[in-house]
Amino acid sequence: MTAFVRGPVGWVEVICGPMFSGKSEELIRRLRRAQIARQRVQVFKPVIDDRYSDEEIVSHSAQRIPAHNVRTAREIMEGVEPRTQVVGIDEAHFYDDEIATVVESLANVGKRVIVAGLDLDYLGQPFEHVTRLLAQAEEITKSLAICMRCGNPASRTQRLVASEERIVVGGARAYEARCRQCFEPRLSQVELALEDRGRARKAGQ
Ligand code: ADP
Ligand code: ZN
Repeated sequence: MTAFVRGPVGWVEVICGPMFSGKSEELIRRLRRAQIARQRVQVFKPVIDDRYSDEEIVSHSAQRIPAHNVRTAREIMEGVEPRTQVVGIDEAHFYDDEIATVVESLANVGKRVIVAGLDLDYLGQPFEHVTRLLAQAEEITKSLAICMRCGNPASRTQRLVASEERIVVGGARAYEARCRQCFEPRLSQVELALEDRGRARKAGQ
């Protein structure tokens, strides 16, 4: 697509899929290429995700790129400088519902906006803001991980800890990628708590 673009037309690319599917990796790859092409790039990450180092996006495969920490979608809008050509946004599902409006406004003033985020929550239900972004986008990439149960392509994120909060921040200890067949969204909280305890016991051995 980029090869045919003349001037600052502005558009939205969304990279979605489950955890561990390479969304951050792909976001970082695209942003790096833009930097190599000497375009002005700004990257944003929500401060809620404090799993890794602070002022950068780090993928599960340890790829990294410096990023501004923000707490709201509006802070992205306020943080984008007029000269910026490419805006990268990771973990789109963590933002408030203003994120789709912000992304749309940035694209409308000529920015290339690349957004990565989960399309489905731990129950397999769509994250509404991400769904809206998908509808607004010029280009969509759906990435798949590898199912940790059977090795097939995985489109779902299995929560491994007992919680009914929609947002529970965690990495490989709290989540794993699963295919449609192996995904167990309704695993009861009791079963999860038991599995949790079993894992903790094994880790302590
Ligand atoms: P996402 O942003 O989608 O969570 P990342 O880009 O952070 O994904 O990480 C992708 C990397 O995660 C892969 O390149 C691989 O090294 C690692 N990984 C860990 N578990 C899996 C899995 N089940 N399937 C595929 N990749 C995995
Ligand atoms: Zn499977």
